Amino acid sequence: DSMSADTTTTATCGYCATGCGLRLHLKDGEAVGLTPETNYPVNLGMACPKGWEALRVLDSAERATQPLLRDSGGELTPITWDDALTSFCEGMKSVQAKHGAESVAFLSTGQIACEEMAFLGALARFGMGIRHCDGNTRQCMATAVTAYKESFGFDAPPYTYDDFEQSDCMVFIGANPCIGHPIMWERVLRNPNNPEIIVIDPRRTETAAAATQHLQLQPKNDLPLLYAIANELIRRDYVDHDFVQNHTHGFESLRDHVSTFELESVCQNAGLSVDAVSQAIESIGRGNAVSLWWTMGVNQSYQGTRTAQAIINIALLTGNIGRPGTGANSITGQCNAMGSRLWSNTTNLFGHHSFESDADRAKVAEALDIPVERIPTTTSWKYNRIIEGIRNGEIKGLWVVATNPAHSWIDQGDVRELFDQLDFLVVQDMYQTTETCAHADLILPSAGWGEKEGTFINSERRYGLLKKVRHAPGQALADFQIFRGIAHRWGLGDMFAEWTSPEAAFRIMQRASRNQPSDITGIDGYEQIDRCGGIQWPWSQEQADGGFEPEQQRRLFADGHFFHDDQRARLIVDDIDLMPEPADEDFPIVLLTGRGTVSQWHTQTRTRQSPLLRSLYPNQPYIEMNPRDGDALGIDHGDLVRVQSRRGEAEATACLTHSVQSGQAFMPMHYDCTNRLTLSHFDPHSGQPSYKDCAVRIVPV
Ligand code: SF4
Repeated sequence: DSMSADTTTTATCGYCATGCGLRLHLKDGEAVGLTPETNYPVNLGMACPKGWEALRVLDSAERATQPLLRDSGGELTPITWDDALTSFCEGMKSVQAKHGAESVAFLSTGQIACEEMAFLGALARFGMGIRHCDGNTRQCMATAVTAYKESFGFDAPPYTYDDFEQSDCMVFIGANPCIGHPIMWERVLRNPNNPEIIVIDPRRTETAAAATQHLQLQPKNDLPLLYAIANELIRRDYVDHDFVQNHTHGFESLRDHVSTFELESVCQNAGLSVDAVSQAIESIGRGNAVSLWWTMGVNQSYQGTRTAQAIINIALLTGNIGRPGTGANSITGQCNAMGSRLWSNTTNLFGHHSFESDADRAKVAEALDIPVERIPTTTSWKYNRIIEGIRNGEIKGLWVVATNPAHSWIDQGDVRELFDQLDFLVVQDMYQTTETCAHADLILPSAGWGEKEGTFINSERRYGLLKKVRHAPGQALADFQIFRGIAHRWGLGDMFAEWTSPEAAFRIMQRASRNQPSDITGIDGYEQIDRCGGIQWPWSQEQADGGFEPEQQRRLFADGHFFHDDQRARLIVDDIDLMPEPADEDFPIVLLTGRGTVSQWHTQTRTRQSPLLRSLYPNQPYIEMNPRDGDALGIDHGDLVRVQSRRGEAEATACLTHSVQSGQAFMPMHYDCTNRLTLSHFDPHSGQPSYKDCAVRIVPV
């Protein structure tokens, strides 16, 4: 099809946070094909299978093409947009009239554009009186946000993708970029320094197999191990004393705390050899440019925030930050998780301000040109508290935007029952077939990636542009347009009069960003973002006036100044908590969950629409087990098994593999049944669900 195109344009990909540039081939203004952009600073002219198939998934019979309302007989029936907006406003207002303004909540996403998140957050919290709201980013990035905020003074991943190519030692903790972030991994492969690659992971993942050192620890031994590593780095005097003295706080208490984590006992508990860990410590200690990277193995843990901070501590102790090839680097998951962190107006006030600060509220009110009394003085409940709010009858109306909690939330069976207790559930999505749609009273059909405009922020803090290269099917509308329609119908047209288009919203966001670490006042507009191949934050007016180039790759903390008032980073340590549901006699196996393949995405809402992507991955659930456990249980490779936890059970095909250790098993999150098993427990600081550790038993069917 690309052969018949008459023009091309570039847009950033809409799945993962790598933020690859994709070249769209257009005929008469409609995209007929795509290839990876060869002239984009992120992706080296490559894309993963999901990116290649980005257009295909738009042409699906499962698309939501008209608003649907559940009638008195329980059937979802097509209605007009006019009626849908009326139903939405009447439904939500009647819940609020009966149970209070705060009885309505929304759950949004890291999948929609920054401008859409900003609009939703402002409309709901400043306009509609919704107080409680959160995003699916709670499921993936909340831990990193909290860790960075406490350690650095702002949610600020410090790196730029060049760092993948400039390290001489890279440590990946609970991360499998080979399949999770394959284009980032390509950059690792291009690193000319022949880097030491250390993987800390209970599974022998694709990345672990490619590494120079794999510390295959027992699950949830990461925090003690990182403390033991810090202890040894101090003991062997690999500390950058100047850096620690001039740029951090808390060294003495860290030193005292980690001194109790002796290498031998920690290694014994973790199932590691002292020699292997010692070798890793030497690599970290002697490296000139050491970078540490983490994703969900750390974040999705009941002690995730402290684990992330233990990683940050190692970078700070050794002075591995702010220089090329260094950093304590959280890799983001979703295409716009970073946008959600800055603009969703949920945990943090619009633009990562504080709801509690008078000055911040005044600043945001001015940027949005709204009365300051409209801005709540407290933050929202977190996702898990909203779910509890449904259980307690405090939340009666819920608006779910571009996410699929009936599949993805932890202990799924419980969540599905709770959704049926709501008075009014609205789901706004591209597809009308998601597990969450099955519980909806009203479905609002939205346009997808490629059918609308806006910006995404990738893992290295780069604003990239998404573009409208297709017409949305049927009556589906861009989320931005849906929010506009709701604003008008709710009676808030005047308040949001300036929000006429995504780019108009972007200008409001720029005003609100002034003087924040994430200042973007220097960006001229969409055209400049397009021309530069995206622009990393910060890009302030001062930087733009100072003769710097927006295209230049920028990492944070080059001057050793962090975002706390005293400009010092904090070294934070804590006690170790025990796994809440360890394996026992009844449920003898620890279930790990995670991404299973490069070709599927999260709950497969989009990726299962592509025949090609489907063909690259088993359609039926499978579970990876160690052959020794298979033998003991009488289970052969390929057998159907029943996986049971205290919450529920799932059927899956046994895949016997040495990539998981005996006593553990792994199931991909892409299958609907996996979260029937998971245990509802959370990191206390970030509220992030701990998806990676529950006890199960496996029996032959
Ligand atoms: Fe790139 Fe991620 Fe899109 Fe794949 S899914 S093309 S790695 S941005």
